[in-house]
Amino acid sequence: MSIHSDVYRTISQELKGKNVALVAVSKTKPVEDIEALYQLGQRDFGENYVQELVDKQSSLPADIRWHFIGHLQSNKVKYIAPFVHLIHGVDSLKLLKEIDRQAAKFNRTIDCLLQLHIATEETKFGMDEQELTEALGQLSNFPCVRIRGLMGMASFTDDQEKVRSEFRSLYNIFKQSAISHPPFTILSMGMSGDYTIAIEEGSNMVRIGSLLFGARVYS
Ligand SMILES: *Cc1c(COP(=O)(O)O)cnc(C)c1O
Repeated sequence: MSIHSDVYRTISQELKGKNVALVAVSKTKPVEDIEALYQLGQRDFGENYVQELVDKQSSLPADIRWHFIGHLQSNKVKYIAPFVHLIHGVDSLKLLKEIDRQAAKFNRTIDCLLQLHIATEETKFGMDEQELTEALGQLSNFPCVRIRGLMGMASFTDDQEKVRSEFRSLYNIFKQSAISHPPFTILSMGMSGDYTIAIEEGSNMVRIGSLLFGARVYS
């Protein structure tokens, strides 16, 4: 068994005490590792790739809550729409529209987070504040989508103050948006390397992979 059970126990206890939800990021990891963490009580798992998520979902226990945390292409929404628990990375109206359409087809309301671009890096996906305002203004057009909050990723850097200030600005936008959108209760920010700072800055959902499953090897 290659999961880090002791680290899991420590982190999940710590997070419970702080009312922070833990999404165990299992991308690239085999179903055996997911089962092992499941046996320890973990129920929320996050995946980045649609095909991988669909394959794993079909062979693992039905009470797992699957989070899609990657960049979702509109033409792939239909594959995860029947079962996905929360889509973290929604960053366009086009995608919202397709999620709404597929949710309606499967008679569901799908919970989503809007992804905000907080890092200064060019490579990270996400909306800016103006696009967020625009999206929030149009939610009535998407009755089968429920926007539950925001998701963001800080810059990949050793500069902790930079990471902190990016998380802080996301928290402020979250608080501001929550005033006019009461279903806004989830702020998904923080990964293995920066989750402690994220929680200090107001995160209530962290997405942790390598600390629990070990480093990922991409072949
Ligand atoms: C891979 C990934 C994570 C987990 O990263 P770790 O550094 O392994 O904890 C969290 N969020 C997103 C969006 C990811 O793609």
